[in-house]
Amino acid sequence: MKKRQFKTESKRVLDLMINSIYTNKEIFLRELISNASDAIDKLYYLSLTNKSIKVNKDNLFIKVDYNKDKRTITITDNGTGMTEEELENNLGVIAESGSLKFKEENKEQNDVNIIGQFGVGFYSAFMVSDKVTVESKSYKEDKATIWESTGVDGYTLSPSDKKENGTIITLHLKEDTEDYNYSELLSEYKLRSIIKKYSDYISYPIKMEVENSRKKEDSDEYETYKEVTTINSMIPLWKKNKKDINNEEYNNFYSDKFFDYKEPLKVIHFNIEGNVNFTAMLYIPSHAPYDYYSKEYEKGLQLYTNGVLIMDKCSDLLPDYFSFVRGVVDTEDIPLNISRETLQENKNIKLIAKSIETKIKKELLELLKDDRSKYEEFYKAFGTGLKFGIYNDYGMNKDKLEDLVMFYSSKEKKLITLDEYVQKLNEDNKNIYYCSGETIDKIDMLPQVENIKDKHEVLYLTDYVDEFAIMALREYKGKTFVNVANESTDLSTEEEKEKIKKENETNKSMLDEMKDILEGSVTEVKLTNKLKSHPVCLTTTGEISTSMEKVINAMPTDEKIKASEVLEINANHKIADKLKELYEKDKEEFKKYTKVIYYEARLIEGLPIDNPTEMSNLICDIMANK
Ligand code: ADP
Repeated sequence: MKKRQFKTESKRVLDLMINSIYTNKEIFLRELISNASDAIDKLYYLSLTNKSIKVNKDNLFIKVDYNKDKRTITITDNGTGMTEEELENNLGVIAESGSLKFKEENKEQNDVNIIGQFGVGFYSAFMVSDKVTVESKSYKEDKATIWESTGVDGYTLSPSDKKENGTIITLHLKEDTEDYNYSELLSEYKLRSIIKKYSDYISYPIKMEVENSRKKEDSDEYETYKEVTTINSMIPLWKKNKKDINNEEYNNFYSDKFFDYKEPLKVIHFNIEGNVNFTAMLYIPSHAPYDYYSKEYEKGLQLYTNGVLIMDKCSDLLPDYFSFVRGVVDTEDIPLNISRETLQENKNIKLIAKSIETKIKKELLELLKDDRSKYEEFYKAFGTGLKFGIYNDYGMNKDKLEDLVMFYSSKEKKLITLDEYVQKLNEDNKNIYYCSGETIDKIDMLPQVENIKDKHEVLYLTDYVDEFAIMALREYKGKTFVNVANESTDLSTEEEKEKIKKENETNKSMLDEMKDILEGSVTEVKLTNKLKSHPVCLTTTGEISTSMEKVINAMPTDEKIKASEVLEINANHKIADKLKELYEKDKEEFKKYTKVIYYEARLIEGLPIDNPTEMSNLICDIMANK
């Protein structure tokens, strides 16, 4: 017998499992049955392409037994089995457990219930057992092995004389405690109901010996007898008729398969018959998974052909901007032995993907129309991805996504769609105004916004990708996007324009000198009539705004850009008169004022200041001289 220690990572997961006060301990059975089913799937799949592996399709099964006296539950399968090495590698280590990572990242939540909702896998056996024995024989060799562990002290390996391929897992149940009645699990009724609840759609029979009663022949008396029956209905949920599936079944399937502890926002279950035939059962989650915005997140749908799992995450079935969708696709129209490479080229996969994309979009639009608050919940979780979708690939997919995005409206004080914005415009109004910044409040306080928001609805963009998406769109239903913070945005009348033009001409030498004082930081200094009460603002010319400058420069590349800035001074503010006065009388003071005004304008935009000490000294100088 060989003794081994668990790897540290695994030890921590084990600790979580053993010490979990999680009440829904019964999911251990779901996990072990799923593993058994996967192992059978694998063996069956292998036998289809490798003729030397002989499998009798009608004799593939999982069996659950219990023994009250010994306090054991046994789960048997005739799947692939594991070699000694595989037992060590698969059950001795958890490379990177999703649930552990999640727990660490969400320490403050300390919600142990979360654990049980994840794919905690084999280790969940330790939630109910103080000893677990795994006896396994791999289809690859004649040798069989027994793996045994009490959880804490590592595990032992010893030889077994098991002859058939497959695995027998024996759980030695814990003693009952105040918190949990483990003995209750040792009953036909309890096990049957757990199997029905979580594993009904498993596509292999889950057998169990049950007690039945029948009338004795030639007598009115009844006798009990035992027989082995199949507990699960075996029809994959997606193959059932929609009207025969209730919400709970949809939700159980979802949490079971995709390890989400929250209910999905929407289920899309549909069938297509035509050029290509398939059934899809898709879910829109109600929140982004913890790794959604990281590189680790893998998009994709489970792909089945005739009920056999071909690929766990088939990425070709989903466009990137719908990568949040989880679900399964079952089709007869692709070959069983399709590989990742040939899959990409497969005509039917492309047709299915196209059809899925159209369906998802349609369903999202319907959700938007019929259940606004649900849509907003969805949008808060996944909106950023949609906006990326607009901007990525040179705006190739913008037409598909523009109706799905929302932005905060200065008028409505909530998220609105572009269509809702445009519907309110009359013929003469050709513009959709927007402005970006760090927060709604900060944008609302921007000097440039003050004047315009009285007259027009302004969209406030707070997500870093927003402005890039708007740039990719350029226009929506014939209306052009206009950045309020752009120098060229001017709502004044011809008369007013003429007046301010003259003012600027009269003061040209002063304004030029200000620009020189600022040593190339701005491309222009000008007097403006676009500000209502505020003294100054910083606008930009051209396509790159200050927000985009911030975003791009924050990226980990060497490529740094600079927006072309214009310092605008309110011609009707006292500061304009003060500047004119100082320009004539006190050049030293004029210089200080110019610098402070520019620093202020940068601060308002949320831009960094190169020399805060200089700014503070200048302000104190000015204050002391008063
Ligand atoms: P997961 O199933 O998420 O990979 P588990 O901890 O449940 O994680 O199982 C680890 C691995 O052990 C599985 O990926 C599989 O390779 C192997 N395994 C578990 N149960 C069985 C079984 N009944 N038959 C064959 N292999 C199994």
